[in-house]
This record gives sequence, structure tokens and C-alpha cells, in this order.
Amino acid sequence: MLCCHGMLTLHRLANVLYPPACPRCDRSLPRADAALCRSCEAAMPRPGRPLCLSCGIGLSGAFDARLVCARCRARPPAFAGARAPWLYLGAGRQAIRLLKYRHRRRLGRWLAETMAHRAGEDLPVAQIDLVVPVPLHWLTRRLRGANHAAELSARVASALHKPHDALALRRRRWTPSQTRQRTWQERWRNVRESFQADPRRVQGQGILLVDDVLTTGATAQACAQALRAAGSREVFVLTAARTPLQWRTR
Ligand SMILES: [Zn+2]
Ligand SMILES: [Zn+2]
Repeated sequence: MLCCHGMLTLHRLANVLYPPACPRCDRSLPRADAALCRSCEAAMPRPGRPLCLSCGIGLSGAFDARLVCARCRARPPAFAGARAPWLYLGAGRQAIRLLKYRHRRRLGRWLAETMAHRAGEDLPVAQIDLVVPVPLHWLTRRLRGANHAAELSARVASALHKPHDALALRRRRWTPSQTRQRTWQERWRNVRESFQADPRRVQGQGILLVDDVLTTGATAQACAQALRAAGSREVFVLTAARTPLQWRTR
């Protein structure tokens, strides 16, 4: 059996013989602890500013002085603000998929740290009392072998020095994967009323809801409604990436 020192030497030797490669493009990494190489990191697209203050979508077209998109003005979402450091496109989409389906832990750590940084810049962090992941159904968790949303949210919570509670919100029933539902109506029908929050854990609390991707916003809306119904004071949403599409709340 090797002692700690022996393991460390072996680890260093392995790094020299097999320098850690970027999980996206296989080029060598600038530092052994880097999540991606510099060019992949730079290739991950970010939402264009200004952002809608409510849902965080890039406002490239017409907008009024309040910086709220037409969709949020017509039907305000149940959450007070949603932010994501990246767009779910190109290298951004590939990085999330590496986390989701290949369980790249170092990548997860870096994504979460960047998400926490974005929350610090763009969300009222002082109003957040509790960080909560979008829950997976136990069956999905069993099939995937990991719960990346819960891993991201635990890391975000520790970076923001906030408590984390993975049991505050649960899935009441199994729903088919959201990625197969194309339209907002399909997604909303799929997730509506499928979440339940525990009032003993969330009452009066400011919640930061964490997930990997925000697509149409149907899941975030359903979770925020469940949290508000259980007495949460307000809900903010933080995801690693969001689709650049317009989205709807109903
Ligand atoms: Zn790369
Ligand atoms: Zn909006």
C-alpha cells in the first residue's frame, strides 16, 4: 500500500507522462487543475448584455428603459430573477453535456464557481437564505448514477457561504425527459404540479434555485411556484447555461 506521499509522487509522475487533456478538444491544459483549455473556455458563448432584469435573457432587440423583456412584462414569472453565465450553444452546450453525461467533476467545480461569481455580480445575494437544487426523480438519479444539479448547487452554496438543502423541494411524480418536449406547452404540461416544497424548510426564506440549463423556463417556473406556495419569500434562479430562445411563463 502507498502512503500519501507515495500517491502524490505517483500522481505527479502520471501528469508528466500523460499531461491532463482538455475534455472537449484533447489539447493539453494550461494548468493540471484547469477544467478546460483556454480556447474552449473562450469559445463558450455568454448572454449578450443588456439582460432582462427578470428572466436574464439577452435583450438585443427593442426594450424599454426598465430592461424587462416583453414576455416578462406580459406575464411576470414566479421567480424574481434568473441568471446564467453561459448560453446553451456550441462549446457552452458541449461543456454542460460533458458534465451531465460524462460526470466530469473538475468541470463541475469550475462551472459552479463561475455560476457563484455571476450570482454575486447580478443577483441580490444578501437576500438569499438557502440554496436548493432542481430535484431529479429518484429513478432518473438511479439511471444516471449522479445528480449533477445537486452537485452544482452544493458547490454554489459553499462558494456563496449559504446553507444548502437538497430536500427542500422534491419531485412528486416521474416526468418524461424535458429535452424530448419541444414546445413550451408540452414542457409546461409535463412539469406543472410535479414539484412540492417542504414549508418547514422554505417558509419565509429567500431561495436560490440551481439547475444546469434553463430552456423554456417551464421547470424553473414550476419549481418557483411550488416554493412560493410553501411560503418562500422570493425565488432566484441560477443555471450554468440558458438557451438563447425567447421563452414563456404560461
Ligand atoms: Zn479544449
Ligand atoms: Zn424576461
